[in-house]
Amino acid sequence: MSFEKLWLPYAQMKTVPDPLRAVRTSGTTIHLDDGRALVDGIASWWTACHGYNHPHIGAAVSQQLSAMPHIMLGGLVHEPVERLTERLAAKLPGDLDYCFYSESGSIAVEVAMKMALQYWLNRGVGAKHQFLSFHSAYHGDSLGAMSICDPAEGMHSKFTGALLPQVNREFPDTARQLAELDEYLAENARTLAAVVVEPLVQAAGGFVFHSPESLRRMTELARRHDLLVVFDEIATGFGRTGSMFACEQATVTPDIITLSKALTGGTLPLAVTVARRHVFEAFLSNDFESALMHGPTYCGNPLACAAANASLDLFESEPRLAQVAVIESQLQAELAKCAALPGVSDVRVMGAIGVVELARAPNLAILRRMFVDCGVWIRPFGKTVYLMPALTIRSDDLSLLTQSIYSVLAEYLGN
Ligand code: PMP
Repeated sequence: MSFEKLWLPYAQMKTVPDPLRAVRTSGTTIHLDDGRALVDGIASWWTACHGYNHPHIGAAVSQQLSAMPHIMLGGLVHEPVERLTERLAAKLPGDLDYCFYSESGSIAVEVAMKMALQYWLNRGVGAKHQFLSFHSAYHGDSLGAMSICDPAEGMHSKFTGALLPQVNREFPDTARQLAELDEYLAENARTLAAVVVEPLVQAAGGFVFHSPESLRRMTELARRHDLLVVFDEIATGFGRTGSMFACEQATVTPDIITLSKALTGGTLPLAVTVARRHVFEAFLSNDFESALMHGPTYCGNPLACAAANASLDLFESEPRLAQVAVIESQLQAELAKCAALPGVSDVRVMGAIGVVELARAPNLAILRRMFVDCGVWIRPFGKTVYLMPALTIRSDDLSLLTQSIYSVLAEYLGN
């Protein structure tokens, strides 16, 4: 077997270290072809919230596979997508009820942006064509989503000139920052369709945490200036920050929310953009031109919806949020000592997210290899070494992860 013609994600293919070959997963373990087993600290880019191969999800997907793996959603609907929609609408706050499906987080964000732009156009407001997002924001890799990422952030900085010009500001954590944003919006809100934000935790842009209060104040300010509020909960949704959705902690119902990643419990690709009633109603008209012109081929794929329904069953039948609270305490207790290591600038924990931030960017390839040598799958990036494990992780496995972080950093930073 060779990976020569495989173009890997986020990789310089000339120098990329040989990837490991995974052959099987079970629980929170990744089994490699050479017999090694790694305890997974990041749940396959934060998707596998119930651990890998959960039999309940497997059974639901198998059953759906024999009944109808796929059917187009144009002109046809099916039970898995209708049921999932009802359940998401019931779980999300307020009248956040109207679900538009796609297959990846980036596309869910694109759809949210398009919805926000057309919301204003349908209401006869022509000038609102830009978005406000924040420093350290990450919303995906497609061009529209890239345009609202932090422009200085490594992944996309090269493209800045080619992207739609948007507004990227400091997130208002303090009263002064809030007043500055207020002042800015007083001048400029006329051209802004929406604010897009990762609530409580800005994840891929560096795991920056914000309080529910500052999120709520920012939202109120944006609404006062007539901006729609879009919460990108692709990383934070489904229990990760301690509540089912991060917006609940700020008691805010955004106008639009995006979900993906853990939506199917890490089984199949699926994303959803959910709008509140007033957003949905802005598209209702006798004029077809007012309709949302979007329709991914695999929109509402029945297999993925069956997996998502089974994942929601598990959130209802198993104590996931209680497990998050236990993980949070353990991460706090066990990562705290990393703060004393020279070269560590911060240690922070929220829900089932643990972050150790270094003062300077480390050699990622070296760190990643050291973690594999410890028998764990941890992929630091930027200046952060982080854990976002399955919410079902056993406490001894979590200890192995936190101990590995301590010992690897102690050795790496000591040299
Ligand atoms: N938004 C957020 C908050 C994310 O964390 C990510 C993925 N890291 C995305 C959007 C993009 O999702 P995807 O990789 O599925 O396109």
